[in-house]
Amino acid sequence: PPQDPGTEKDRVRVIVRVRPLNSRETEKSDRSILYCERENSITVEGAKHSRRFTFDSAFDVTSTQEEVFHYSGVKRLVDMAIDGYISTCFAYGQTGSGKTHTMIGPGGANIFRMDENFRIKNFGLVPRAINYLFQQLREKSHETNAPYYIRVSYCEIYNEQIHDLISPSHSDHLQIRGSIEDGFYVENLFQTYIETMDELLTILEEGELNRAMASHNLNDTSSRSHAMLSIQIEQDIQGTDDQKEQMTRQGKLVFVDLAGSEKVKASLSKGKQLTETNNINKSLLVLGTCISALSDSVKRAGHIPYRDSKLTRLLADSLGGHGITLMIACISPASSCENESLSTLRYANRAKNI
Ligand code: ADP
Ligand code: MG
Repeated sequence: PPQDPGTEKDRVRVIVRVRPLNSRETEKSDRSILYCERENSITVEGAKHSRRFTFDSAFDVTSTQEEVFHYSGVKRLVDMAIDGYISTCFAYGQTGSGKTHTMIGPGGANIFRMDENFRIKNFGLVPRAINYLFQQLREKSHETNAPYYIRVSYCEIYNEQIHDLISPSHSDHLQIRGSIEDGFYVENLFQTYIETMDELLTILEEGELNRAMASHNLNDTSSRSHAMLSIQIEQDIQGTDDQKEQMTRQGKLVFVDLAGSEKVKASLSKGKQLTETNNINKSLLVLGTCISALSDSVKRAGHIPYRDSKLTRLLADSLGGHGITLMIACISPASSCENESLSTLRYANRAKNI
């Protein structure tokens, strides 16, 4: 039988990762104002106040990609997805805070062009999780003698429009179909079955390149778009009743590299850019509301505004309580980023419902 997703508190895990100061910040003598005193708390020594926030884990500037993989809870997401649940992992934070670094690796798609030693050391959560997934599936299918099928799709939501990152040529005007009851899906989104880790890495690399390519044309869409990788895991299992019916168990593992959370003042943007800003602000706000409802049974029984953005509509099945969620809040330690870092920490806190 599948593992129990556990109590409300176990359904949502929120962790924080602080990246090191970069050379640009050091040059303008930015100071670091963030401290991880304990393994689960983070203190902001602000210009006026000092504030402490507590999460499930906090990773400081010295944390390695491997440590984040081992202690973030991502392995549990993979295990649950194999058992038939929907597991979702988000990276949230302002542009430049380390979302793509944490999810994919330094430089996003660039990591795929590095030599093997560099890649092994610097790969982010997604390649590591995929590697772990294949390991677990190999072991399990030895035990149960039942094959697994893995189906992947990769898309980007930019300005409430969905683009295919695997097969971008046929990606115009992709529509969402379905219902809250049966789940939502993207019509005509390219899906491909894969059998090896290398095949998945190729998809990831091409997807990251397609994401980066679009950003040259459209004023850095990569920081203004949500990228969503879905890995569907299917297994044929034999029913336990007399007929020994064949059944299929379906689980899903979803990774979302969210649009930059920085506040772009609506008053400073016009026309198309204003719509874009409003769309990002709205989808991140709705996502926060949906996640915080996940860890609170009273709120979950009430109205949850999945329909209010494409991102949350596509995630309605995972946010609807059939799975578990990990949110990684990424922050810069620089004094010049105090307001954005506080806003990220507050958002993460609210998701955790503490
Ligand atoms: P985002 O995706 O949130 O816009 P990036 O992941 O692109 O941010 O990170 C911005 C820059 O900072 C990149 O050059 C990245 O490699 C670097 N960086 C981010 N996090 C870390 C980290 N934990 N350690 C070292 N460098 C990092
Ligand atoms: Mg990024």
